[in-house]
Amino acid sequence: MTSANLSFWQHLNREFPLEYDVAVVGGGIAGCSAAYWLKSMEPSAQLILLEKDEIGSGATGRNAGFLLQGSSTSYTIDIERYGRDVARRLWQATLDNRNLVEELFGGEDIAISGCGSSTAAGTDEEADRLMASAQLLHEDGFDAEYLDSRDINKLLGSVGYRGGLHVPSGAVADPVRLVRAVLRHSGAEVLEKTAVKSVSGGNGNTVDLATTRGLVRAGSVVIAINAYLPLLEPEMIELVRPVRAQMLSTVPIGETSLPMPVYSHDGYYYVRQREDGRVLAGGARHLHEMEEVGYSLDTTSALQNDLGIYLSQHFPQWSDARVEHRWAGTMGFSPDGLPSWGRVPDVAGAFWVAGFTGHGMSIAFLIGRVMADLVLGSDQSDLGRIFDSGRFTAK
Ligand SMILES: Cc1cc2nc3c(=O)[nH]c(=O)nc-3n(C[C@H](O)[C@H](O)[C@H](O)COP(=O)(O)OP(=O)(O)OC[C@H]3O[C@@H](n4cnc5c(N)ncnc54)[C@H](O)[C@@H]3O)c2cc1C
Repeated sequence: MTSANLSFWQHLNREFPLEYDVAVVGGGIAGCSAAYWLKSMEPSAQLILLEKDEIGSGATGRNAGFLLQGSSTSYTIDIERYGRDVARRLWQATLDNRNLVEELFGGEDIAISGCGSSTAAGTDEEADRLMASAQLLHEDGFDAEYLDSRDINKLLGSVGYRGGLHVPSGAVADPVRLVRAVLRHSGAEVLEKTAVKSVSGGNGNTVDLATTRGLVRAGSVVIAINAYLPLLEPEMIELVRPVRAQMLSTVPIGETSLPMPVYSHDGYYYVRQREDGRVLAGGARHLHEMEEVGYSLDTTSALQNDLGIYLSQHFPQWSDARVEHRWAGTMGFSPDGLPSWGRVPDVAGAFWVAGFTGHGMSIAFLIGRVMADLVLGSDQSDLGRIFDSGRFTAK
């Protein structure tokens, strides 16, 4: 995708500096969503989106495409970590995120399927947590059902799970098609292959972005580069750690037997099967914690082997399936598992958002609206307050 309404020659020969009302840095789901909401709240705003590589080349184009509710663990753990009100708000926000994505882009070939989702337990202790979660979710007005070991394995065509939580509102989509659809609706001009090297205060009313192609000047800036934020602002390593996640996908496997995506072992494994029969699986990071830190996109045979073991333990019918693709992506982990936004120190009008902790597809579209609110100076929403990075310094 290149700049809207420009010929190849005009694009090639752009003269810098470029000036815009708002510049968004990062062409993943968070940046494209911020651009979308900015356009819908302020239609006359001139927007540019700067991406160092291609749209969706970061984690957004490398994930499993789960649009889940809550966090990757269990509602009981969310309540322990964040308190009941925040846990309830998070579940509602991820549900709203999924519903909005379907409502706004469902007609756009994003391969969304409202098939429901399951969280499956690897241990009896996890099963107890999921049972308690089902009860608490009911009390909070959400639809979720606990299934014992026999029923969850029957539902999933699996073996060995100790229990599970079935969530009818869970969904999956094609993340690359989704991010492209969100961006198309933003009307933003797009410069790919353009990395931002530094952010500074401009002439007092503007923010200056030094890029690999020249200077871009904007009234406000949203930096949405998730795991890569510390490479631009090194002190941010306290709030965002780069962590690798690896996946594999198989060739089409005869009949489709897994009706919905599964998270299991406290979110450390995830599996889905596409309608064409291909199985996608990821996780096993907890078995290789030290090796999975950093920005490398290489896959490792040790972890990929563990994904194979996991699949054959729980889905023995797929044991012989040939693996077609193996890949990795870089996630941005926050200290408390929740994403954050903040202001770039000493640069008025520059905001950042990061730390999706392996869960950005489920929440980032809505957080794009939080970022648009901040840029436009609107009243902060309750979600804006929950994700404010000030929570780390206030403690
Ligand atoms: C293997 C894997 C599986 C996952 N599965 C799921 C899942 O099923 N469900 C879910 O909810 N989440 C999942 N996640 C997490 C999810 O993908 C991320 O949370 C989400 O994509 C983060 O989006 P983002 O836009 O913040 O970051 P990214 O998608 O990483 O986008 C950041 C962009 O910024 C660009 N960039 C970086 N530096 C610069 C710079 N200096 N200048 C310009 N551009 C720059 C990058 O090239 C990149 O395109 C998974 C992640 C991985 C890796």
